[in-house]
Amino acid sequence: MKIFPHQYQIASLVADRNLYQYLFVGDQIVLLDTGASNTPHEAILPYFERLGIPITRLNLAINTHADADHHGGNGNLKDAAPDVQLACGSADKRLIEEVDVLFASRYNQWIAEHGVGLGLNPEASAWVRQMVGDTKPIDKTFAGDEVIALDDSRHLRILHVPGHSDGHLAVYDPVNRAVFVGDALHGNFCPDVTGAPSLPPAYYAVAAYLATLHTMEELPIDWIYSGHWPVYHASKVADFLTACKDFVKRASSQVQKAFERHPEGMTLRGLIEECGPSLGSWPENNRWLLMYPLHGHVMLLEQQGTITRVEAAGTVRWKLSAS
Ligand SMILES: [Zn+2]
Repeated sequence: MKIFPHQYQIASLVADRNLYQYLFVGDQIVLLDTGASNTPHEAILPYFERLGIPITRLNLAINTHADADHHGGNGNLKDAAPDVQLACGSADKRLIEEVDVLFASRYNQWIAEHGVGLGLNPEASAWVRQMVGDTKPIDKTFAGDEVIALDDSRHLRILHVPGHSDGHLAVYDPVNRAVFVGDALHGNFCPDVTGAPSLPPAYYAVAAYLATLHTMEELPIDWIYSGHWPVYHASKVADFLTACKDFVKRASSQVQKAFERHPEGMTLRGLIEECGPSLGSWPENNRWLLMYPLHGHVMLLEQQGTITRVEAAGTVRWKLSAS
């Protein structure tokens, strides 16, 4: 779909959700996200064909962040366009280049201590592994604030927008006052194709996520385009940013209250079970993904000294600190 002159949204699906990449065409051609391993052949290459642009003209493919559905297409894309430069945020480079690091530090990092993670579901784990495809080395990293010229009159600005991942990037187009955010902003949930809740918000670093929301509020934005969410325009931009902040507030307050109700302490799994139902109505089998924001809120409370980590009988829990 053409969204602005020489700018396009490439749409496909991942499970029950929309999946979008963005294409910026000038003297230089830039692609934002490469999708999952199947996306280049099923969506990106056919889109170039329809536009009559040889895929070999693609100069730069930027991964907004390390995740199977955003960088998994790197291998197949690079095979089709050997001269394309692959780029990502500095802090996500190793996760994108090394599948073992991705799984160990992003999907399975809490299994050993907290008994929650992707690897506990072998079928889902195999599906994500397939989506990651063949990895390729990253040619270029961005830290934020870089400017990419599309032609003499148009450029994109790179933004560093962490929270969902440490190196998460967004792209800002000042002419259309449009920001392309990948999965940097989560609202109250990630929707399925009908708009119903599919997944809980998946920021895991609370302070970084709040800083990203502040970055967005400071930016002149008329349009928000993302990896899975609908497009937000005009007054809907502020509404969406408010929804993002509201979820953080609700999650923070639910976690705090759970600790107050349970002086004996709470495990991460216990928090997910107890806070989950009141935080949103995504399918129950996706509730475990609350491990991201809830672990984030626990880390923040621990850092602030509000709760203390206790290890006993092979279980990690946290309880309100003695005052
Ligand atoms: Zn995603």
